[in-house]
Amino acid sequence: MRLCRFAADKLGLIEGDRVKDVSAALDALPAARYPLPRHDLLIAHLSELRAPIAAAAARAKSMPLSDCALLSPIANPGKIIAAPVNYKKHLEEARADPAIHHQNQVAEIQRVGLFLKATSAVVGPSEGIAIRHRDRRTDHEIELAAVIGRQADRVSRAQALDHVAGYCIGLDITVRGPEERSLRKSIDSYAVLGPALVTSDEIADPAALDLKLTVNGELRQQANTRDLIIDIADLIVFASSFYTLMPGDVLLTGTPEGVGPIKPGDLIEASIAEIGTMQVKVR
Ligand code: MN
Repeated sequence: MRLCRFAADKLGLIEGDRVKDVSAALDALPAARYPLPRHDLLIAHLSELRAPIAAAAARAKSMPLSDCALLSPIANPGKIIAAPVNYKKHLEEARADPAIHHQNQVAEIQRVGLFLKATSAVVGPSEGIAIRHRDRRTDHEIELAAVIGRQADRVSRAQALDHVAGYCIGLDITVRGPEERSLRKSIDSYAVLGPALVTSDEIADPAALDLKLTVNGELRQQANTRDLIIDIADLIVFASSFYTLMPGDVLLTGTPEGVGPIKPGDLIEASIAEIGTMQVKVR
């Protein structure tokens, strides 16, 4: 399934370049009341929702995907886990450029570990990126985002990928500077997720996906997930050895080389093979 959220909290099923409104399927979710669970309700119940989604799609008319104002496909991620410097060429460019490393030691991911981005930073493609500190360099980072489908606590490598519900594109927007990553990367709208959640069964091999990012049509980043230093399974092993991963948690797997500044007025286009393309305006 390729699921999107659009307009005012509608759930969409993507078929080719068309979308069907399958919001009626959300009635099959269990009623939630305070205190709310620490997971995303839709992702936690995704397998039970397949039949209601198919039933709603059978009744729905389709509309062009390009007409839909896309929101983050994950409404309520409990946490956003992110991998720093997880492509070797990006590690080299970060070490070589003072405007990126800011006298911070840029160590290998095996030594730095993972960091968290605030969930309040999450937006969908249609919401755009609002540059907060115009006097500072703010960079784009395209990343493959893995969405956790079921609770994962100290899982083995052999079982790790069974805990992934699906994948989407993530933009880990970053203010360069000396502060902690979690601060610089948690500004409102600095975690763009989209265009859709593509369930794992639709992705032949998440370790062989081409990814590409352009700014105003100029190619900035182009790589393949096979070049990840720590692959998705081992990132899940690593993360779940420290904290329990919950359905809807988002794992940003790291950005390849080619990061660069963005400014208001720019248009970012980000693509990952088998997932899709999203356009994101910067303001
Ligand atoms: Mn990143």
